[in-house]
Amino acid sequence: MRPYCLKAPAKINLYLEIVGDRPDGYHEVVMVLQSIDLTDEIELRPLRGHAIQLHCNHPQVPQDASNLAWKAAALMQQRYPDCGGVEIKIRKEIPVGAGLAGGSGNAAAVLVGLSLMWGLGLTHTELQEIGSALGSDVPFCITGGTALAVGRGEILTPLPDLDGLPVVVCKFRDLSVSTAWAYQSFRAHFKHSEAEIKELRGYSSQMLSAVAARDFGRIGRFLYNDLEKVVLPAHEPVAQLRSYLETQGALGAMMSGSGPTVFALCESVEQARAIEAATRQAFTHSSLEIWLTRLCVGGVQVVDG
Ligand code: ATP
Repeated sequence: MRPYCLKAPAKINLYLEIVGDRPDGYHEVVMVLQSIDLTDEIELRPLRGHAIQLHCNHPQVPQDASNLAWKAAALMQQRYPDCGGVEIKIRKEIPVGAGLAGGSGNAAAVLVGLSLMWGLGLTHTELQEIGSALGSDVPFCITGGTALAVGRGEILTPLPDLDGLPVVVCKFRDLSVSTAWAYQSFRAHFKHSEAEIKELRGYSSQMLSAVAARDFGRIGRFLYNDLEKVVLPAHEPVAQLRSYLETQGALGAMMSGSGPTVFALCESVEQARAIEAATRQAFTHSSLEIWLTRLCVGGVQVVDG
């Protein structure tokens, strides 16, 4: 058994529609998910016995059994009790509580890595089945790229790759949003009428045809996120940032997932650089952090054996 080092990319939502409630307490969603080249690094080392140890360089990330990566390891041990223990080291680049699926990506990396380290040879589909018990975004994080996600987000259909498109990703360092709060709040205050559902059906098919055609202009115009309806009114700076990015000439700007991260899709690296510089200037007296990155293919990658 040898150690493994893996990279887990963050995701953004190009489309997030909450279709309705489900009997299991989750929401029925239609999402277009996209990996971006902003990654955490996860190192796995075999340990004797059944021990799980976890270290992370980010102060807001728990280092105990409440960490999603720890939960992934515990779930694998439950299924494969003879395989031993594991030490997990997480180097965070993805901001925490950001709507970028950082925790889900870490869990996905542990599933992929333990299958390799323990010589289990599990397929992506098998790992996605295991991962769906940990969180709705975990199955997507395993394969990444561009995908349509329905059900509670775990039923995936791959879409044509949109890799290479530059994206400016912005988050206030001192602001996090709880995903559970955002969904509960939406449930409490909003329910789409029949007419809205019909309109959104048209909207989601426009987005899917734009992705199929890799028509970046139309993708930018059809960005959509239901959770903006609850997060933007509750967090004025995020609403201001979103409005600001919309006026900068990008293909489109929107909040990712449950926020508070806001991103701008750009048509060129030059445009992305200009938007990054202008945004830094405009929000200079705030805790705004900005990453200039790009859409990418694939999910969890092994970087080193
Ligand atoms: P999602 O988009 O999947 O809802 P998110 O990007 O909004 O996720 P995360 O960064 O995954 O949010 O973190 C949400 C909370 O989960 C944090 O407050 C953190 O304390 C906890 N957490 C548990 N495990 C991890 C992990 N491995 N990485 C980051 N946060 C974790």
